[in-house]
Amino acid sequence: MIIDFHAHPEFKNQNELYSPQEFVLGMDIGGIDISCVYGNDQADAGGAPPWRDERLMAVPTNFSDEECAAFCAHFPKRLIGFTSINPDRYQPERKVERAIKEFGMKAVKLYPHSGFYPNDPRLIRTYDLCSRIGVPVVIHTGMKAVSWQSMKYNLPIYVDEVAASFPDLNIVMCHGGYPWIEEFMAVVYTNPNIWVDLTFMDRIEETFIIPGLVENTVRRLVQLIGAKRLLWGSEGPYLELPLYGKQNPSYYQVSQHKLVKRFDFLSEEDKADILGRNAVRLLNL
Ligand SMILES: [Zn+2]
Repeated sequence: MIIDFHAHPEFKNQNELYSPQEFVLGMDIGGIDISCVYGNDQADAGGAPPWRDERLMAVPTNFSDEECAAFCAHFPKRLIGFTSINPDRYQPERKVERAIKEFGMKAVKLYPHSGFYPNDPRLIRTYDLCSRIGVPVVIHTGMKAVSWQSMKYNLPIYVDEVAASFPDLNIVMCHGGYPWIEEFMAVVYTNPNIWVDLTFMDRIEETFIIPGLVENTVRRLVQLIGAKRLLWGSEGPYLELPLYGKQNPSYYQVSQHKLVKRFDFLSEEDKADILGRNAVRLLNL
């Protein structure tokens, strides 16, 4: 089973998203069984404008739990919703509780570059809740997605304190933490409750022209923590970001090849784990 652990809805034109039908058609083209569809709450603080500016960002900066749940409800066996929280406007643990109970969402996504640190005290109750009920928290680390965000919040080191304070909480760190890869490695290696989402490292390798970035990172991760906590994702069938370019459903295969399938240091078992089975375990599917 192939699970895209990291997917976003996308604007098709000015104000219209690709429909759930178009999204799933893209998954069919790429041979994807299940996609994790990320909510997106980047609020209106910390440099994130409240409006959607197509010139700056095609991925919706605010994709509410209601919108995400309605999107996923069209294909409940294929689309899994993740809620997204931001501590600036409300009590995040309440939003998480509702997302899980009312909408059946399976994880919580944080976008620190919208203006908060992962170890922000306002998130402690959320971490406590997620730890108690076994819901993972997925944290963007490393590069920012668009220019108006602040990259300082994405430093991997801020996740270390959270992981150490909540040893029973499963945390996923995304994107390999570039350009703070050594910091990322140290945080991942020393915290057994941290999982790694490999999504977008292929795009980072191309954008910043770093030959061997993906191979080196994946090889080291497998040697340091094994393959059981690694997750493959694609960013979804229609990603479009001014800083990093566009993709279409044919990219699913390219991304699986670049991030996982081409490596002979991974066994067939490892590949099946990274491409889907680890996500099944993490999300209790
Ligand atoms: Zn993403």
